[in-house]
Amino acid sequence: MQVKNPNIKRTKLTFWERLYLPEIFKGMAYTFAQMFRPRFTTEYPEVKWKPSGAFRGRPVLVEREDKTGERCVACGLCARACPPMAISLQASETDLPQERYPVKFEINMLRCIYCGYCEEVCPEEAIVMSDEYDINYKSREEAIMDKQKLLVPMERVKARLEFLRAYKNAVRKAEDQYVGEEAKR
Ligand code: SF4
Ligand code: SF4
Repeated sequence: MQVKNPNIKRTKLTFWERLYLPEIFKGMAYTFAQMFRPRFTTEYPEVKWKPSGAFRGRPVLVEREDKTGERCVACGLCARACPPMAISLQASETDLPQERYPVKFEINMLRCIYCGYCEEVCPEEAIVMSDEYDINYKSREEAIMDKQKLLVPMERVKARLEFLRAYKNAVRKAEDQYVGEEAKR
């Protein structure tokens, strides 16, 4: 014999709900109506998505404006800040005004976690997170990006550089405001 649990409150169904089929047709009509609504999905890979400057894609090395090589001065800060130790570089001296440059600069993309710490610490805006997200490798060797693969013209990362400058200015302003308020106390 079935014992009724007094703690369970059952909803009383109407006649039409108990018939079951009208609810099924209502659901089908709703699904059918969706077919005529505008689509908001992107037909990737035929249609590529264009990320904004806030996006953190593959890290790249930025070329100098006069196209005489990379902006990097081989200070090594990015390699120190990189949590998975994906960056390795070797510094040397140059006759250019920057005095130092990396003879070798590599990023192991199998290790990179796209955190952006490297670009945050770079004093020269020399390493920047690009808008590239469509990245694949056929071998481990291919995933190790050398200077040749990393170097891009400055125009290529213009949106990211503008975003970074605005972000850093906002952080500095907030810090100054905080210090000012603390000094008043
Ligand atoms: S994005 Fe992060 S993990 Fe990748 S190279 Fe830069 S610091 Fe290292
Ligand atoms: S922090 Fe910038 S300048 Fe220093 S080694 Fe890295 S990319 Fe070069």
